[in-house]
Amino acid sequence: MLRTHTCGELRIEHTGQKVELSGWVQRIRDKGGMIWIDLRDRYGITQLIFQEGETNSEVIEKVREMGREFVIKAKGEVKERYSKNDKIPTGDVEVFVEEIEILNSSKVPPFTIEDDTDGGEELRMKYRYLDLRRNVVRKNLVLRHKLAQATRRYLDGQGFLEVETPVLIKSTPEGARDFVVPSRMNAGEFYALPQSPQTFKQLLMVSGYDRYFQIVKCFRDEDLRADRQPEFTQIDCEMAFVEQEDILDTFEGMTKALFKEVLDVEVADFKRMPYSEAMKYYGSDKPDIRFDMRFVELNDVAQNKGFKVFDSAELVVGIVAEGCGDYSRKQVDELTKWVQRPQIGAKGLVYVKCNEDGSFKSSVDKFFSQEDLKGWAEKMNASSGDLLLILSGDTNVVRKQLNELRLEMGKRLGLRDNKVFAPLWVVDFPLLEWDEESERYHAMHHPFTSPKTEDISKLDSDPGAVRANAYDLVINGVEIGGGSIRIHDQKTQSLMFDHLGFTKEEAKKQFGFLMEAFEYGAPPHGGIAFGFDRLCALFGGAESIRDFIAFPKNNSGRDIMIDSPATIDRDQLHELHLKIEEEK
Ligand code: ASP
Repeated sequence: MLRTHTCGELRIEHTGQKVELSGWVQRIRDKGGMIWIDLRDRYGITQLIFQEGETNSEVIEKVREMGREFVIKAKGEVKERYSKNDKIPTGDVEVFVEEIEILNSSKVPPFTIEDDTDGGEELRMKYRYLDLRRNVVRKNLVLRHKLAQATRRYLDGQGFLEVETPVLIKSTPEGARDFVVPSRMNAGEFYALPQSPQTFKQLLMVSGYDRYFQIVKCFRDEDLRADRQPEFTQIDCEMAFVEQEDILDTFEGMTKALFKEVLDVEVADFKRMPYSEAMKYYGSDKPDIRFDMRFVELNDVAQNKGFKVFDSAELVVGIVAEGCGDYSRKQVDELTKWVQRPQIGAKGLVYVKCNEDGSFKSSVDKFFSQEDLKGWAEKMNASSGDLLLILSGDTNVVRKQLNELRLEMGKRLGLRDNKVFAPLWVVDFPLLEWDEESERYHAMHHPFTSPKTEDISKLDSDPGAVRANAYDLVINGVEIGGGSIRIHDQKTQSLMFDHLGFTKEEAKKQFGFLMEAFEYGAPPHGGIAFGFDRLCALFGGAESIRDFIAFPKNNSGRDIMIDSPATIDRDQLHELHLKIEEEK
């Protein structure tokens, strides 16, 4: 070993010991008579000290050749520091260096390797291997490791078996676009990369492996955002001989155990909310329930008073911003502009200030009496000093807009503390979702999700009203996981394919293997998958999952460090039986 200790290890008890450390030069301070080096490795920083007159002059000469990020080995004696640094664990001591060796030199790095670096995102991604040397990034990867290990330990303890499933497969049912891989040995044919191991984990249930999990890469060719990457990781799970309650129990248990083990946080039993309620009271299927601010529908008290905007709306709905009754005109105008931005797209915002003296001031005073406004405030459970914010329009559109406003107000009022965790099971999702573009129903989750038995009869008469045995785990407004109890008999599965507009041939071509497997004794089963990158970001108190992935892609799906995707040469194309169409 080129070291006796790491750079994070030495304490006051090591005083007097001869040690050897290896690492990177974080900083050199040369005050003429004295030189200090901060030596860094994965474990921390230790101060090295050199003193003109005391330290061998060859050693001093070598130190003066060094620059930031040089890799060095230093041997010396641990001494107590005169001025201690209580900000780092090794801050009581320093190493008085007697021998030093430059193991490798370094170019000047393109940005500073500090918590607060001067490097922009683009530059840091191009030199990600340098970015990864930074404390803040390393901490995120350590957290990810801990979460993965704790997950494995927990699931292993519950009798789950980790089974790997293939990556070169064919189209899977998650409804995104596939990444495909041309086959050299089978001209004109392609593999698809799994959007999830969904079909394989169901096959494993047929095979009798009744508790399966895998921490697995999935691939979806979708537009990217802060919480989406083209390749991402799931904790993918499936169980046989279970009902919905069993799955919820098992994975609530796992989530609680992860919070306890990794963050030492105890979370209470998870709340449950049907999808329909989530939409009605929060305008979202992933409500952030760290704060209340529930929607209150106002049609009965706000319509038919001559205000056309409300009268012609399908839904009039508002929220109470507690204590915001003293907002100035400027503040309200700014909020109005905020909801009118194209990303939100509201036409306007109606406000009512509940004054301390019991009177009301609103943007619609022309149409509504003090008595009317009082009625709204009562219905919304508002008190004096509060501000009512009201939107109107088509139900689905308005709910979405008010959801955005609610989240924004929650943020502005400091109600979304990232150290507070509010998990929620959203249950009873609709089975089907109408798609405007293709003008037909799609599976809201995926085509293997089972309908609630009591709703099956509505499949023909009112398909949109059929509920599924599907559930999502939502924490702080982020969808952390989702799953369902599956269809396990061939008859119901065919019925489902019919309703999704698959012809028998299409269904057979895409999922025939699964249909056939179901004819050989498929047990009742169900499962769930957690977005592992999102879970890491949530635990780390961050929004972007990119910070928790060692080598992430940028918003255009590029890895700018290795410069991928890239063109391939003609021979390679030829071998793969591919031709690139010339740009016109
Ligand atoms: N395969 C699903 C998904 O990736 C999860 C599940 O149904 O278990 O969302």
